Amino acid sequence: MQLPRRQFEIIQEHALRDVPYECCGLLAGRRQPNHKGEYENLVYEIAPCANVLYNGREHGFEISYSEYIDVEREAKGLGLEIVGSYHSHIGSPAVPSNNDVNFARPGHSMIILSVQNMQPSAVTSWYRREEGGFHQEAIRVIE
Ligand SMILES: [Zn+2]
Repeated sequence: MQLPRRQFEIIQEHALRDVPYECCGLLAGRRQPNHKGEYENLVYEIAPCANVLYNGREHGFEISYSEYIDVEREAKGLGLEIVGSYHSHIGSPAVPSNNDVNFARPGHSMIILSVQNMQPSAVTSWYRREEGGFHQEAIRVIE
C-alpha cells in the first residue's frame, strides 16, 4: 500500500492525541491492479473518525455507520473510494485483534499504529483479500 508522508503524520498525531483511547479513521484512495492482477491500495486522503465504541475504547474501536457513509460520500466527490481504515493500539503490538479482522472489508487495507509510552513504536498494514485471508503488506510512504 502507498501512503503520503503528510497523511502518515496525521495518523500519528491523531493516535497520540487520543491516548489512552484507540484512535480510528478511514483511508480514501484508489485500488490499482499490478501485473499479476492483484490489487494495491493507494491512499491519497485520510479521514479521522470518532471512536464510538461504548465500552473499552482503550483496546478497541468502532466507526459509526453514519460517519462511514459521510466519508464515503466525500471520497466519491473527490473521485476516490474508501480503501481501508487505520487505528491505534495502546501499549500492545501492531497486530490485528479478532475484531480487527472482522472489521476489515474485502479489498481493504488496515493500518495499525502501536503507541508505547506516548511514542509511536510500530506501524503495520494488513490487506484483506477478496477471497478471504488477511496478510501483512508493506507500507510505501511517499513524499
Ligand atoms: Zn486493533
